Amino acid sequence: MTEDAFTPEALEAARILFARPSSFVMGAAEIEQLPDTSLPEVTFAGRSNVGKSSLINAVVGRTHLARASNEPGRTREVNLFDVDGRLRLADLPGYGFAKAAKTTARKFQNLGRAYLRGRPNLKRAYLLIDSRHGLKPPDLEAMDALDQAAVSYQIVLTKADKLKPADVAAVVARTAQAVAKRPAAFPQVLATSSAKGTGIPELRAGIAAVCGLTEA
Ligand code: GDP
Repeated sequence: MTEDAFTPEALEAARILFARPSSFVMGAAEIEQLPDTSLPEVTFAGRSNVGKSSLINAVVGRTHLARASNEPGRTREVNLFDVDGRLRLADLPGYGFAKAAKTTARKFQNLGRAYLRGRPNLKRAYLLIDSRHGLKPPDLEAMDALDQAAVSYQIVLTKADKLKPADVAAVVARTAQAVAKRPAAFPQVLATSSAKGTGIPELRAGIAAVCGLTEA
């Protein structure tokens, strides 16, 4: 499937879905604190400062739902957001934050791993990669964790506006090649820019489809 495989109707249905009210449900420091698993859920993971909060805000069309912060590593919990009582978005703690103490870093990682194993309603994880940096060792570790947990995941490149289009295409191709042999990875790599809105309609359509809320 390619980015333009979504029909105009699917893109429009997803736009309407995410234009509906969304709200913060809770932040959980322990996986047991998370609410029931009755709704389909997708999650977002990535290195601190990758642009995760900005992307979640762009998906739901809100400026401040997820906390966008210039202070890397501030998010220490799994933050859960509800979209119109129909699906949930989970924001995992950012990883690879150099300044965090090793033990603290491990605690976040464990929380992320526990989340991936403990949510039967999890439909897909989105692994965010800064398009300027590409895949780094902590990202490969995150991919290992996703493959081991057998959670279907898709790579989303962030901040694509910071590169020339040809360079974005090159990073997409390189990243797609790197994930091709990963058992749980979705082959298509999606380039996005929260700042410009690039790729956001396609991301919304992908989430809606994987949650069974619209047709792909
Ligand atoms: P998080 O730590 O992963 O939640 O990252 P944030 O969403 O807080 O973003 C980190 C920094 O990257 C902030 O300074 C954002 O303004 C910036 N940023 C996020 N998304 C984009 C984007 O699409 N384009 C550009 N140019 N900057 C972005």
